Amino acid sequence: MSEKEVEFERMPGFHKLESLWRIEYKATALEPVITQAATEEAKTEISDLIGRTYHKPEIDLVPLVMDDRAVITGNAVKGVFRHIISAQLTAAGIAVCIQKIKLGEGAEVPKERQSRCSPEDPCFVCTWFGRASRQGALYFSFLKSVKPLEEVIVDEPVPMVALSDRYRAISERARAFALIAPVKAGTEFTGWIKGENLSNEIIGAIKEIANMSEKGFIQLGGLKTRGMGAMRIEITRVEKYGTKPFKLEKTWTEDELDEFLKECQTAYHELLKQGAEKES
Ligand SMILES: [Zn+2]
Repeated sequence: MSEKEVEFERMPGFHKLESLWRIEYKATALEPVITQAATEEAKTEISDLIGRTYHKPEIDLVPLVMDDRAVITGNAVKGVFRHIISAQLTAAGIAVCIQKIKLGEGAEVPKERQSRCSPEDPCFVCTWFGRASRQGALYFSFLKSVKPLEEVIVDEPVPMVALSDRYRAISERARAFALIAPVKAGTEFTGWIKGENLSNEIIGAIKEIANMSEKGFIQLGGLKTRGMGAMRIEITRVEKYGTKPFKLEKTWTEDELDEFLKECQTAYHELLKQGAEKES
């Protein structure tokens, strides 16, 4: 596979703030979601909330809670977006680098990936998502449940056996099974993405993920291998601000938003096509 550069719209540069973007979205749980393993204190509170009806003193895994809302951290959302966009570009034959942290001890960089890109010429993914030494142009807010925790948490905890390595910490007490208290399917969350100097291509890539999510392909939170975490993502509003001076330049909603996102997605698809053309 060739790893030649492809053309994508470059940023004006991090030192030059030309535009600021606010992409608001809604995420609806298609399956139960366990947002994150939480503290002992939170476990006790949630055990009290749904009652201790099992022969176990406490629930092992509960959602992350902030201000009475179930939350998913922005970092977790960003990680999923980064991973999928990287994987899609790689499949399309476009060189993106792989984050060192993702590689285990002594692991080799897969041959389709570059180990890291140069600071002067970052790949598409590093441009928008950043890398170890520098923040990217995208920031993800907490995803917060619209309703308070007591309305969105399952009525009965879910018992699960044979825990994955990732949750080894809870298996000692759990032994035969662990009790999981996820957020119910149907729960609605809202969040937003802040962007600096965004191009249509990266907005299109975000829209692409929203499309994948409609079919259940986007999972957030823990216990994904157990079928939890599928969420439908829907972009609800985009705002673009100028910076000279700071001023709202444009808001996209409803039909106009659909049209704009379609345009952006076309730009992203053009980028993917460049990879295929290189290969043929
Ligand atoms: Zn890179």
